Amino acid sequence: MSKLLFASEISVDDLIVRLQTTADAFVTITKELDLNKVLQSIACTAQQVGNSSYSMLSIFDEQGQINTFYTSGTSPQQQEMTALFLKSCHLLGLFIKEGHSLRIHDLSLDPRFCAFPPKHPLITSFLGVPVSSQGKIIGILYLMGKIGAAEFDETDEWLLNLFARQAAIAIENAKLYDKNSQAQRNAQTLAELIGSLNEFTEPNPLFQQISNAVCQILDLPAAGVFLLDRRSGRFTLQKGVGLRQSPVGDTFVPIEGSLAGKVLAGGETLIVPDTGLLDRAFMPSLANGILPKSVVVVPIRKYGKINGVIEAYSKEARHFTPDETGLLETFATKASLALEKAYLYQHKEDFLSMTAHDLRTPLTAIKMSMGLLTTNLPPDFPPLLSQLFENVSRNAQRLDDLMVDLLDLTRLENGGVHLKLEQCEVGKMIRGVTTTLGPLFEEKSQILKSNFNGEECWIEVDRRRMEQVLVNLLVNANKYTLVGGKVEIGLAEIGDLVRIEIKDNGPGIPLSEQELIFDRYYRRPVHEEGVNNSGTGLGLPITRKLVELQGGKIRVESAPGQGTTFYVEMPLHDKVPVKN
Ligand code: ADP
Repeated sequence: MSKLLFASEISVDDLIVRLQTTADAFVTITKELDLNKVLQSIACTAQQVGNSSYSMLSIFDEQGQINTFYTSGTSPQQQEMTALFLKSCHLLGLFIKEGHSLRIHDLSLDPRFCAFPPKHPLITSFLGVPVSSQGKIIGILYLMGKIGAAEFDETDEWLLNLFARQAAIAIENAKLYDKNSQAQRNAQTLAELIGSLNEFTEPNPLFQQISNAVCQILDLPAAGVFLLDRRSGRFTLQKGVGLRQSPVGDTFVPIEGSLAGKVLAGGETLIVPDTGLLDRAFMPSLANGILPKSVVVVPIRKYGKINGVIEAYSKEARHFTPDETGLLETFATKASLALEKAYLYQHKEDFLSMTAHDLRTPLTAIKMSMGLLTTNLPPDFPPLLSQLFENVSRNAQRLDDLMVDLLDLTRLENGGVHLKLEQCEVGKMIRGVTTTLGPLFEEKSQILKSNFNGEECWIEVDRRRMEQVLVNLLVNANKYTLVGGKVEIGLAEIGDLVRIEIKDNGPGIPLSEQELIFDRYYRRPVHEEGVNNSGTGLGLPITRKLVELQGGKIRVESAPGQGTTFYVEMPLHDKVPVKN
């Protein structure tokens, strides 16, 4: 160092000032954590360290190409020109890439250098140093146009090299910070996407969600879920995103020779950075008709065995980092579990509906026979026996109600119900339902009152299904309210909603159970005398499903001893049909 000082004949005072400037520059660049800001700050402070008119920091990308430039002292246009110029000449870059710094008295006279781009400010003196981290050159720091002297000297070179070492640490810190923040964001996205899988109880929408999520995780345009069919010896695409639809039905790939087949054989994730190098890949085309350039294939498993793959496709050739494949594998494991759950759920539902369906046939025969028996009993038939007959009939009817409700709910939940939407006037619909149910209320001496005027409210619903909603709520109000009670129906337009209110002065429901009553089979014990407690515990789950399927919402407000109000809110249909 002393040799350097003597050579440039710098005074100790001057050196202290320059060291102070360099130390300040260190502090400035380490204040930032955002990588872009750090890089820009290095370019700016380097200009002060070397006392130059311009400075530029070029960073190499993963392929060792200079692609990013940060400048100070130049206009954006000049920056662009210089960047292009340096890129095309490349001589300096190559030279500095070897690890040496480079100091030139007059750049324009140097034989290794080509001409400046047009309109570029004239640069004579030049100083460039490599920016290295852990023995690897990650960029180049250039200073141009020494201020106050004809050229950069040894002290400038020494200080700039010192600064470049500190700059490399700041860059590595910012990269680490960047990587950390990215990892945090990835973890959060992954957690959200994994969470979203739990919402699905059916395989089909789940396949779609898995494909969407994979595209999101890897920022890719296309992905698909393939399931293995050993009998036909192929994988069939279940659902995909960003893929061209096959004109001949299902898209499938054979086990033999396909990427999915290799994953099945090897049991591990497969990465193909360039599909062009494969003999045959058996891949679906992307939406634009071209074949994917890079692919990553991860296995999905059912009860521990590979039963399919997720394939993620890129338009351009790209590498998948270990972090990215790690994320995809974690996601695939969770997706496999979610699929297992959906299969189980589907089997359970299929089993339930089959059983319910099969049980109804003999049950109908029992009901009919019991009906015939009880209506044809001889007058002297023993009362005890006729009581038993009645019990059998009542319970056969209960069982039948349960089967009907169970089948209905299963169909509703499996998407097996097709709504016939039509425009309906709610007031008229309520009047129709209350007329039908009137005798039930009369039987219990209850008041059934409609609290709305004749103003028309239109909604677009399946009339039969919407009437079913009203009937379920009114029958409950009638059933759980004591003799002599009161049930009121309200109707109002609230913004773009139609709100139907069914209010009773029955026993009420404690807050802790107000959500539970919408669960399958949930029934509250009835303590009040005179309340008929027959039921299946499926009425409200069916009602909620029906309301939601038709775009509405249902909620309950209640307090024990003060009655219960159910609110059904449906989207208002503003277009009143023209009456002929
Ligand atoms: P079910 O009426 O067949 O039992 P639901 O699903 O229709 O089945 O209702 C679930 C439970 O919610 C009922 O068992 C009852 O305890 C409670 N419930 C429903 N409506 C009312 C109401 N209007 N007042 C008090 N409790 C009610």
